Amino acid sequence: MLEKIIESIAAEIRQQDDWGETAQYIPELATVDPKQFAISVCLADGRMISAGSATKPFSIQSISKVFALVAALGRVGNQLWSRTGREPSGTSFDSMVLLERENGRPRNPFINAGAIVTTDALLCGRPPKQALAEILGLVRQMSGSNGIFINDAVAASEQRTGSRNKALAYYLQSHGNLVNDPDLTLGTYFHQCAIEMTTEQLAMAGRSLAGLEGAPRVISLKHVRRVNALMMTCGHYNGSGDFAFRVGLPGKSGVGGGILIIAPKVASIAIWSPGLNHYGNSYAGTRAAEMLSKATNWSVF
Ligand code: GLU
Repeated sequence: MLEKIIESIAAEIRQQDDWGETAQYIPELATVDPKQFAISVCLADGRMISAGSATKPFSIQSISKVFALVAALGRVGNQLWSRTGREPSGTSFDSMVLLERENGRPRNPFINAGAIVTTDALLCGRPPKQALAEILGLVRQMSGSNGIFINDAVAASEQRTGSRNKALAYYLQSHGNLVNDPDLTLGTYFHQCAIEMTTEQLAMAGRSLAGLEGAPRVISLKHVRRVNALMMTCGHYNGSGDFAFRVGLPGKSGVGGGILIIAPKVASIAIWSPGLNHYGNSYAGTRAAEMLSKATNWSVF
């Protein structure tokens, strides 16, 4: 039954004319063919159902912010909330506007400014390699796969062109909301964003957040609930309301075209299609998520 649903979603996506545009500001991502699609659904009984290029690694980009948040909550707990808020921003992922109005305290850990602060909290004076090893180790543990790596070319590409993130980091520093050298924090952030995963690996990694049986226990239930709440309200930037309206499930997108979606107690879902809509979220991925939610009735509402 679910196999049929997934197959028909993949078939419908294959026929679409518009695929959106890949992230142009990261040269390594700009050249990726936008007409690609993959979906993987990991169910509570342990079954994995996939369609499309589900074993092809892609750049998870901002989905890494979920894993960094899980690691940071484990490391510094509630202290993190003194440095970042938990309100939707209603602005784009790399916006500066609210940061100035709110004295260098980012609105939430999923916009870039908040994610830079989260990575800074994880770094806490350690060499970036150690913080990155912690994030990568967590991702591997959550997905049950050692075959997950950082693409250094993507990280270097963003490092060369990421002026906006550099501006955000230095602005945070000017407000005393960055502990480490901004370039060290940024280097760690760019590398965490350059982690590559397949939709199968990503769906596996979401099991802990969906509360599925057999998933590794990497954080407390309290933190699981909070991460899901943030994914629902802030996971798609200024498109978060629209995603909740259309899909009704916590989700986190990345400019590599991936989306991690959590159906609490039911399934962990990963979708990938690199063409983006005007919010910077996967165009086909959002369409597919909407179709899946409608066909399965998995919306939490
Ligand atoms: N590395 C990207 C950036 O900082 C992540 C943004 C995203 O995936 O939304 O611009």
